[in-house]
Amino acid sequence: MVVTTQHCEYCFDVLVAHFEGRKPMVPSFADDEYPLFVTWNIEQHGSSRLRGCIGNFEPHHLHSGLKQYALTSALHDRRFNPISIREVPHLSCAVSLLTDFEVASDWKDWTVGVHGIWIEFEDPDSGKRRTATYLPEVCEDQGWTKKECLDSLLKKGSYRGKVTDDMRNRVKVTRYQSSKLSISYDDYLESREEIMSFNKLFPWAIVGLLCIVSPIKAQSTDATAAPSTAIVPAAAPAAPTAAGPPAYTPLAAPSWPPYQPFAANPIASPIQQLPQANQGFPFNVFQPGYNPGLPASQQANAGQFPMQVQPLNIPGNPLANYKPAWQTGGGLGGLFGQPAPQATPQAPAQAPAPEGGAALHLAQTLKSEVPPVSVANALYDYVVIGGGSGGLASARRAGAHGAKVAIVEDSGKLGGTCVNVGCVPKKVMWNAASIAEALRDAQSYGFGPVNATFDWEHIKDKRDAYVHRLNGIYETNLIKDKVEYLSGHASFLDATTLKVLDGKEEGIIKAKHVLIATGGYPTIPNVPGASLGITSDGFFELEKQPRRVAVVGTGYIGIELAGIFNTLGSQVTVFSRTDQILRSFDPIIKETLLKEMQAQNVHFVSHSNVTSLSRRGSQEHGPIQLHYTRNRGKEQSSEFDCVLWAVGRSPRVEGLSLERAGVVLDSKGYIHSDEWQETSTKGVFALGDVTGRAQLTPVAIAAGRRLSDRLFGGPKFAQSKLDYQNIPTVVFSHPPSGTIGLTEPEAKAMHGQDNIKVYQARFTNMFHAMAQHKEPTAFKIICTGPEERIVGLHLIGRGSDEMLQGFGVAIKMGATKADFDACVAIHPTSSEELVTIR
Ligand SMILES: Cc1cc2nc3c(=O)[nH]c(=O)nc-3n(C[C@H](O)[C@H](O)[C@H](O)COP(=O)(O)OP(=O)(O)OC[C@H]3O[C@@H](n4cnc5c(N)ncnc54)[C@H](O)[C@@H]3O)c2cc1C
Repeated sequence: MVVTTQHCEYCFDVLVAHFEGRKPMVPSFADDEYPLFVTWNIEQHGSSRLRGCIGNFEPHHLHSGLKQYALTSALHDRRFNPISIREVPHLSCAVSLLTDFEVASDWKDWTVGVHGIWIEFEDPDSGKRRTATYLPEVCEDQGWTKKECLDSLLKKGSYRGKVTDDMRNRVKVTRYQSSKLSISYDDYLESREEIMSFNKLFPWAIVGLLCIVSPIKAQSTDATAAPSTAIVPAAAPAAPTAAGPPAYTPLAAPSWPPYQPFAANPIASPIQQLPQANQGFPFNVFQPGYNPGLPASQQANAGQFPMQVQPLNIPGNPLANYKPAWQTGGGLGGLFGQPAPQATPQAPAQAPAPEGGAALHLAQTLKSEVPPVSVANALYDYVVIGGGSGGLASARRAGAHGAKVAIVEDSGKLGGTCVNVGCVPKKVMWNAASIAEALRDAQSYGFGPVNATFDWEHIKDKRDAYVHRLNGIYETNLIKDKVEYLSGHASFLDATTLKVLDGKEEGIIKAKHVLIATGGYPTIPNVPGASLGITSDGFFELEKQPRRVAVVGTGYIGIELAGIFNTLGSQVTVFSRTDQILRSFDPIIKETLLKEMQAQNVHFVSHSNVTSLSRRGSQEHGPIQLHYTRNRGKEQSSEFDCVLWAVGRSPRVEGLSLERAGVVLDSKGYIHSDEWQETSTKGVFALGDVTGRAQLTPVAIAAGRRLSDRLFGGPKFAQSKLDYQNIPTVVFSHPPSGTIGLTEPEAKAMHGQDNIKVYQARFTNMFHAMAQHKEPTAFKIICTGPEERIVGLHLIGRGSDEMLQGFGVAIKMGATKADFDACVAIHPTSSEELVTIR
């Protein structure tokens, strides 16, 4: 990450300073050169829209470049009216620094969400050379495929002809990357407040610190000229709303020492000229309510401020306990500091080398990106290993409680299984399959013949872009909750010390509490040729839809992916060790679904054992031969274009050096943790898939949040822990199914046959009354005791996925059958059956 929040804070300050009629703060960040863009967005009615974006592909010094483009994009983007002062509280500011320019081998040789593209082409009509560009986020934000992006860019570049493949192939594409960060006005205010509260405490110390900022000031410039070649990404300007945003209100009245207009600002002055009485101080840069038009004598508290120049190194100087911004990487404007453990008696000429060994690459932290900060021996309240569902939720909650938190993630992207190769991309594919079903039924509802083709590549591109966008949102969320993101692989040195390895860089961190949330990975069976098959991870990498697919395994992942393939038109064969699917589910779901999948032409090979995979002859990409036995009989084989292993998932514990922390595994290899998520070692916790309990995203999230509440939320949360009873879950099958509580066999075993009562209903959803294909719906309610408390609910049929959550709340609250009956039905729906069932 090249860009830092300081860049965005600076841009905000440039704009605010413009409206307040003062000079902006002096930047403390390095004055490196980059091509850059500044983007202003406004938040209104819950959505965000563009208010200006201008930048330049020529490298600019950051101090002058950001200053220039912060104003140019806010006030001179010709697509919009200039931003007004009353809009300021609703703005967010993004800075993009462009890097890694490379000529692409063809128009497809770039990645949505990663690269921006710059195109050059000759307009066949005019013979003129044209150029246009989209920043990396544009294509992703618009949800475009590469083709849609290029076509739009050609239009943006004033090409008016038909966009053909030939035209696309004639375009020269240069791809580039951008390091981008965005902050809101509130974030900007927060950083100002930090500085102001520091000012209140140590006003005279700041004067001393001025000695050491003058070299930085010397680098800054006042350039404000309009850009020479402004380039703006396309985004339709929305009309301002009638009401408009609420009025800009100046910040709270100041209650600290007086200041002077900037004419007398000593930032620019050498130390010899530092303040004489009433000559102004740098912090008036941030003075809320400051009126530059008034003389100093008329400003609040004028004349009460101690004006001594305090050398940095004299005993008793409170600044001795502070590090300047470039030492801590914190602070705004380079003028002010943050608490540091040791005294910093001398002003450094430049950023000091990191202490205590190699610097760890900090992929993202709130205010410590520049310069690199060594985390050797850094002490945290909480270190979370694993930036997936559970880890992110727990880290953010801990950060929100004020704990000093770091999260370590070794895959280079946040979100874990669910976001990258689980729930999210799978649901996108299930949605695509649901559209295929709707197209199938359309004619039954009177639509003419629908001759739609399905473009796997198209949805893959869009899905990947969406996932990539989510990765970025997770990074931003960590910043909001002040969680440090350390990119690298974590392993224990002892129960409170971790090694974090990122490539060749290594750092050591210490933590009072450690959370292991490392998730799991798909298991590949140990049979010859197994690597010819893919897993669920590989499903999301498929560039093309395979024609003949074998799915080995009948857990929910295998059944969901088999259903998606089948509904989208692949021929699917499912290999099962038994004659069942979804083994742990209630019979009403597994039996109904098995029959329905068979009716939808999924072929099941029951009681089968896959013995090996091979390719015919020496072909590298030819079909795969799947060899198997049935009922331990003779070996048989079938040919497929894709074999998908869905035989379970294993906990990710390798490489953690758990033994050094004394953390023990259970008999199945999962990390053992108790009801408080604590492992065999005090202060080391584990949750989510790595513990093997209810391997679902919301479970990991809930366990993570409750743990952090308990550890850092104070007495109110002393008993906070996750109740693993009655967790609702859905299988995105065709049709979907949902389940909560005990299955009928479990209820019988637990409460006895005579103490349970089962209500069942089977029917055809009214939707299918018109349709040729009739999918089943089946519901089961399991009750215990004379009061008929509901201990299990099992649904299969159209809409079950959305139906279950509300009923789950009722069951969690202890609902009885009478409570269900007391609720008036909603007609005509499927779910009304649940409150009328007899
Ligand atoms: C195909 C599929 C579909 C799914 N669908 C659903 C669904 O519809 N609904 C649902 O609720 N659940 C679903 N799940 C399950 C869900 O994804 C998981 O339960 C959830 O992601 C578990 O979260 P976690 O935090 O335990 O682990 P993860 O989300 O897997 O996160 C673990 C993270 O730790 C990182 N890591 C591991 N070791 C280290 C280390 N030593 N150092 C640093 N980082 C490390 C990993 O890179 C990973 O990012 C699905 C799973 C799959 C595979």
